[in-house]
Amino acid sequence: MSQPASPVNTANRTRSEAAFLEAQKVLPGGVNSPVRAFRSVGGTPVFIEKAKGAYLWDLDGNRYIDYVGTWGPAILGHAHPQVIRKIQQTAENGTSFGAPTLMETEMAQLVIDMVPSIEKVRFVSSGTEAVMSAIRLARAYTGRTKIIKFEGCYHGHSDYLLVKAGSGAATQGVPDSAGVPASTAAETLNARFNDLDSVEALFRAYPGQIAGVLIEPVAGNMGCIPPLPGFLEGLRELTRQESACLIFDEVMTGFRLAPGGAQERFGVTPDITCLGKIIGGGLPVGAYGGKLEIMAQVAPEGPMYQAGTLSGNPLAMAAGMETLKLLRQPGTYERLEALGQQLGDGLQAICQRKGIPYHLHGVGAMMTLFFAEGPIHNYQDVCRFDRERFNRFFWGMLDRGVYLAPSQFEAGFISLAHTGADVQATLEAAELAIR
Ligand SMILES: *Cc1c(COP(=O)(O)O)cnc(C)c1O
Repeated sequence: MSQPASPVNTANRTRSEAAFLEAQKVLPGGVNSPVRAFRSVGGTPVFIEKAKGAYLWDLDGNRYIDYVGTWGPAILGHAHPQVIRKIQQTAENGTSFGAPTLMETEMAQLVIDMVPSIEKVRFVSSGTEAVMSAIRLARAYTGRTKIIKFEGCYHGHSDYLLVKAGSGAATQGVPDSAGVPASTAAETLNARFNDLDSVEALFRAYPGQIAGVLIEPVAGNMGCIPPLPGFLEGLRELTRQESACLIFDEVMTGFRLAPGGAQERFGVTPDITCLGKIIGGGLPVGAYGGKLEIMAQVAPEGPMYQAGTLSGNPLAMAAGMETLKLLRQPGTYERLEALGQQLGDGLQAICQRKGIPYHLHGVGAMMTLFFAEGPIHNYQDVCRFDRERFNRFFWGMLDRGVYLAPSQFEAGFISLAHTGADVQATLEAAELAIR
């Protein structure tokens, strides 16, 4: 199935260029989500015609090995036949009812079985909605208002969380968004990733006011940065002492780093977990869940209101459920680890041989090659990266048929559809593109 990427794809992208000009007339910046516009690397984004397995094809017929994977969801590869069949069958019976279905209970049970901290779950339609609701839940449960987050972590675009956010916001150098009231942002406190002292200082400064500590347990939106040993455990201990909720935003890491996400991999159990991306199998799904006692706050069981016309939508549940079931098959995560290792080792070897300053962080099927000397433990560390070199790398890879996220502040994702040969072809491209 796998063919190696052509050594130099003399990429004609004239159709994408024309399409982008048209799109800019009717969509802000030509896109529906900022990072897609390629602003941080400068140039025209690739317009996608279709995707299958580990590959994307653009409007001009160029094929790419894809390490974006629709920003995480495509862990099985694109258009997995079983997922597509399930969506088709489900659609025959109607696409939305706004009333309960058996599938929602079955999907909830599956999520509860897989994710250690979740005893009850509420489905929503995006990661943004999941995290926005999770902080409302922490506030409802504790009766406090302030939330601690970490500089460089991204938790979706809700007002409270667009404060020193990573990823798209970091890329654009606009840590705060226009239109977010200062009074709203004042409820969000920023700590430094991998720095427990910075969290303790905030608890001391705002005694009895902090509802929760919100974190990507492995950061993915300032590039991939794993937690230092003891960091997550320290947060668990501190939040317990302070009677604040520990909230893991596992929108990216959930079902990717282990069946039960980062909390399973690192053995630290939060009070509330947010999910998204993979949980919808490529359709719009988010979820938040936690202990029974906390989830009892959620309406109609409790006083915290949260609702959604399309929440638990049958097509989205069908795609998500089929995806999670396929992920639970034996060997899945071992395969992802092995591919991640092969790619990570290969990239490091190239940088070492060429004497190029780099630091690579990889956790299973999620990784970032930083063009900066290590150590890299937080957002400030990432900001030292060599922008010129990253841009050369990005375009060099794209021209050789490898599609990477167009920013140093993003992680790359491997899917089960990638083969050893795809990784080998990627490394051959990298040999030329890293310079
Ligand atoms: C992608 C992401 C979100 C936002 O999810 P959307 O579905 O894009 O709204 C939130 N948190 C994390 C950690 C993410 O990676």
